[in-house]
Amino acid sequence: MGQAPILQVDDIAVVYNQQACALGGVSLTVPDGAIVALLGGNGAGKTTTLKAISSLLRVERGALVRGTILYRGMDVTDADPWRLAEEGLVQVLEGRRCFAHLSVEDNLRIGAFVRRPSARGIAEALERIYTVFPRLKVCRRKAAGYTSGGEQQMIAIGRALMSRPSLVLLDEPSMGLAPQLVEEIFEIVGKLNRDEGVSFLLAEQNAAVALRHAKAAYVLESGRVVAHGTPEELRQADVLLDAYLGAA
Ligand code: ATP
Repeated sequence: MGQAPILQVDDIAVVYNQQACALGGVSLTVPDGAIVALLGGNGAGKTTTLKAISSLLRVERGALVRGTILYRGMDVTDADPWRLAEEGLVQVLEGRRCFAHLSVEDNLRIGAFVRRPSARGIAEALERIYTVFPRLKVCRRKAAGYTSGGEQQMIAIGRALMSRPSLVLLDEPSMGLAPQLVEEIFEIVGKLNRDEGVSFLLAEQNAAVALRHAKAAYVLESGRVVAHGTPEELRQADVLLDAYLGAA
């Protein structure tokens, strides 16, 4: 694994609608080729951090962002989200967000357009996704709205992978899924990381599962980083004993 960070976030602060700070100066690093977890309870600021990085807050009315974001050493603090996706930084939104009336395969195809590929490029990208998620091949003609929660999470991740990203921001992949499926999703994330070198910054309330797969983690509370370190270091820290994270 390379040592240069693929992502460096420095002192990001976010205010929504001139109200209280949603983020009060978050700094974090994702080494190239690593899985890094962003942990914290409801409202801690995980989604806001991911959206600040992917620039999706730029299109959210009333959100003010301060701080610096470097992706592969480039200052992308004010980058267009579309441009970032072209550069290989994509976000998988919380709650899966499939186009319910489109087929599974059409949902996946949408993810390819960021790189404006040829028909052959799309076909190859689809085959790759079906190798990663064989279940999606089986249900590829089905309307996405009729697939299971686990399959919809796979569609959301698969769609992001269609553009061959280097860094995926993954928001609450375990949300609403049975434990076995959560494990399956994390195994796939681990495999993509090991075999293809895709880096991940993943927001999770489920600290136990995230710490089993991440190389490092940051714990957010009320918009601030209250602890960070390796899974071993964090398991020993009192902060993870807080009830909102459960036994990790
Ligand atoms: P959850 O796991 O519940 O999604 P989170 O850790 O992702 O929580 P955020 O969604 O980032 O937390 O929210 C951080 C804070 O910002 C919360 O106080 C939330 O109410 C507030 N917030 C989030 N989005 C908006 C918005 N669009 N407008 C106003 N306040 C917001």
